[in-house]
Amino acid sequence: MALLDRHEWYDIARDTNWTPGYVSREELFPPELSDPYGIPVEEWETFDEPYKVSYREYVKIQREKDSSAYSVKAALSRSKFHDEAGEGWASVLKLHYGSVALTEYQACQFQARMVRFGPSPSMRNMATFGMLDELRHAQLQLFFPHELVHRDRQYDWAHEAAHTNNWAVVGGRHAFDDIMMCRDAITGTLMVSFAFETGLTNLQMIGLSTDAANVGDFTFANLITSIQSDEARHAQLGTPSIEIMVRNGRKKEAQQILDIAFWRMWRLFSITVGIPMDYYIPLEQRHLSFKEFMYEWVNRQYVRQVEDIGLERPWYWDEFLDDIENHHHCQQGGIWSWRPTVWWNPPGAVSPEERQWLEEKYPGWNASYGTYWDVITDNLLAGREEKTHPECLPIICNMCQIPISNRPGEPWKARVLQHEHEGRRYNFCTEPCRWIFTTDPDRYKDHESIVDRLYSGEIQPPTLDGVLAYMGIGVVSEGGHDGADYSWIEGFRAQAAE
Ligand code: MN
Ligand code: MN
Repeated sequence: MALLDRHEWYDIARDTNWTPGYVSREELFPPELSDPYGIPVEEWETFDEPYKVSYREYVKIQREKDSSAYSVKAALSRSKFHDEAGEGWASVLKLHYGSVALTEYQACQFQARMVRFGPSPSMRNMATFGMLDELRHAQLQLFFPHELVHRDRQYDWAHEAAHTNNWAVVGGRHAFDDIMMCRDAITGTLMVSFAFETGLTNLQMIGLSTDAANVGDFTFANLITSIQSDEARHAQLGTPSIEIMVRNGRKKEAQQILDIAFWRMWRLFSITVGIPMDYYIPLEQRHLSFKEFMYEWVNRQYVRQVEDIGLERPWYWDEFLDDIENHHHCQQGGIWSWRPTVWWNPPGAVSPEERQWLEEKYPGWNASYGTYWDVITDNLLAGREEKTHPECLPIICNMCQIPISNRPGEPWKARVLQHEHEGRRYNFCTEPCRWIFTTDPDRYKDHESIVDRLYSGEIQPPTLDGVLAYMGIGVVSEGGHDGADYSWIEGFRAQAAE
């Protein structure tokens, strides 16, 4: 019997919409989980995914990807790479696995929402593959760090982070619960498939695998490439949905959805990608600064993509460009200073040579962030290590849950933006974070930041040790210390001696 080519049966096979007889369509696809925008089902039936795959092809390709990633890992598992790589790269891995492994599993549930409640049959079909993708990513990223746990308990955060109230985890959870876990299928696909996966992650993975190969971590480079190839496929779920919304008079809503998600993901992205690129990766192995990476891979492409589908770049674009040059530098200072609260060992990475590189890539770095590190460097040179540890908690943004900060030194731009709602005062780091709150206060108003929890008495005992234990430090693993054991100050000592 002759087999049909895929294109001869594909459209018919995936057209699984029917007219329900026993229940109403509203019951089968409740708007709050499916499409709250009231777009007719015939419109959703025009959804045409650009990338087509059959189940047979999918399984064959995924099997090959898995065997390639796992066999590279097995082949290199006896190599001395991790003995020699240094704590900067280890920090990249610990931060990555802790923030990503179980987020992939959440992404699996997000794809499952489209599988069940997507109003378009082709969306349900593609999301089924997306769900299997995300399950594979979760498995890979739990398995790969597992062999590193015996070397360093901090790698256990791959598995444990999502079960803790670590401040960085609370920030990630707030954002992903917002855009990925608690949205209907359509809003979710705009937020995750488009703003996050198309706009940021797909490109991040290309950059990250290049960095990994430069550093010599071929196991990790292969893992990331394997995952990225799936992301590039299922991220395409977003564009057809936006086109259908724009065509059906929902352009304004689509624009707002993307602007919320892009900002929320950006705030996390600049920490999880910006800090590693400009600080944790050893100077000789950095291939692009984070800013160069953003301009080359994200900014132009994101603007082009939103314009192609009839939307505009986010209203806060100027503030976003400013944030590219600022946010991760502030947070490198903050995370390093509060290093006992994180599950990796962040290197200060501000030796004379590194500061020169930072000044070249970010003119004005020394006059601003440099002044923060000057004080720390002086204290370390004088043997006053204890003075490099702050004794209070920073003010946290009630949207992104990240410490509020802005340029120190000459520019001195640190400000808290406030907003009163139903008698409670909320603090925000930036206008976009405040704006997101005002788009839907009921959604956000009851959340307590980690600092709110300290003052409300939820964290007991309200001491430094109590706060650390609440964050999982000393429970899952020890917290962080300087990843280079302060060796980056030696260049300054030599300069002073001259
Ligand atoms: Mn994934
Ligand atoms: Mn994905």
